[in-house]
Amino acid sequence: MSFESLGLMAELVSAVSDKGYSEPTPIQKQAIPTILEGRDLMGGAQTGTGKTAGFTLPLLQRLMEMQAERPPQQGRRPIRALVLTPTRELAAQVSDSVHAYGHHLPLKSTVVFGGVSINPQKQKLIRGVDILVATPGRLLDLVGQRAADLSKVDILVLDEADRMLDMGFIHDIRKVLALLPKQKQTLLFSATFSDEIKKLSNTLLHNPALIEVARRNAATETVTQVVHPVDKARKRELLSFLIGSNNWQQVLVFMRTKHGCNKLVKQLAGDGITGAAIHGNKSQGARTKALADFKAGKVRVLVATDIAARGIDIDQLPHVVNYELPNIAEDYVHRIGRTGRAGNEGEAMSLVCVDELKLLKDIEKLIKRDIPKDVIDGFEPDLSIKPEPIQRGRGGQQRSGGSNRRPQRSRNGGGQQGRSGNRSNNRSRNAA
Ligand code: AMP
Repeated sequence: MSFESLGLMAELVSAVSDKGYSEPTPIQKQAIPTILEGRDLMGGAQTGTGKTAGFTLPLLQRLMEMQAERPPQQGRRPIRALVLTPTRELAAQVSDSVHAYGHHLPLKSTVVFGGVSINPQKQKLIRGVDILVATPGRLLDLVGQRAADLSKVDILVLDEADRMLDMGFIHDIRKVLALLPKQKQTLLFSATFSDEIKKLSNTLLHNPALIEVARRNAATETVTQVVHPVDKARKRELLSFLIGSNNWQQVLVFMRTKHGCNKLVKQLAGDGITGAAIHGNKSQGARTKALADFKAGKVRVLVATDIAARGIDIDQLPHVVNYELPNIAEDYVHRIGRTGRAGNEGEAMSLVCVDELKLLKDIEKLIKRDIPKDVIDGFEPDLSIKPEPIQRGRGGQQRSGGSNRRPQRSRNGGGQQGRSGNRSNNRSRNAA
């Protein structure tokens, strides 16, 4: 099946072929014609499925079609499509896709997120854009400063809606929704369909088409998974051994805490392995640089927390290492989704110590399979070591399901840091 046969206009087909895609992915096959019809959509898809192109391509086409039907407007061009994302990284990546796919079209777009100066963003908005990609907090700041007017939005996309709710953005989202016209096309993407997501979609979507490409919480089929049992104190040594003996050049490593990321980068440097950390305490500039250096092969290892890694899109990322298992089993699925993307083979390794056996059980229950265990010679766990409680980080509290799953952002405490600060990702999660 070709992109033309999905009903896409020549300019978009040409942009897609510039990117080198020969065939639409399953989500693209389903989402593109549905969105072109003007229907609301509830999409169950993780990153790595091609969902960004799945909504961006038809969104661009709808904007072109609507523009052709309307008489020319006077004054500043209104924002006609709004894409909300949970994190800066994802916002930047979606914005890159909008640019790439809209390359041959006369539409303007920009991206806004917190943690960087607001003034250049204001200037761009004041000049006028058709498409705005935004994280919710910074968007509200800009609306508050009268730089963004959302009253003419025809298409709204909520990308990674589950993550936005997890991060405590529900109040901000509701505020944004209140600023939008009632009559619009809404597309909601989420990797999971929790009760909260269902509630949000019931109030937001009208007769939506339901598209689900990966079963809920199904670990990506193309990823080979393995657990290396090892003592906690020897994890760093094992990681360096694996990187060195396999000559890995590009490895994404997950940790539970920001502090852990920094420490590991230093320790790896001591082993002669270049690395960079990416987490919520790093400035936007430092995060962008870390990601760019990693993509360019200047550093071999990128050490990240779950939140910071969310949405990181690196083509053909071959190796993901869970240096520590996540406290929340679903995060394991998100983590390993960083590799094996768009049909490429990937490998996900977990270095698991005795403290983490309960977390491993939870993960295996969630993905409904046992992950093969492989003890590396010379790194056999010391069976006399007793498990210790895991340090509470993000999501470490007892969960009973429902709406208390994760910490919500405080409206008047440390979480609210003013509207212009570094507040988009890390305010509700102490360890992200
Ligand atoms: P996403 O799920 O949107 O994060 O996309 C995951 C990756 O798949 C990105 O690197 C895209 O550039 C890539 N991609 C998207 N659509 C296609 C396609 N039709 N063929 C091959 N790769 C694609």
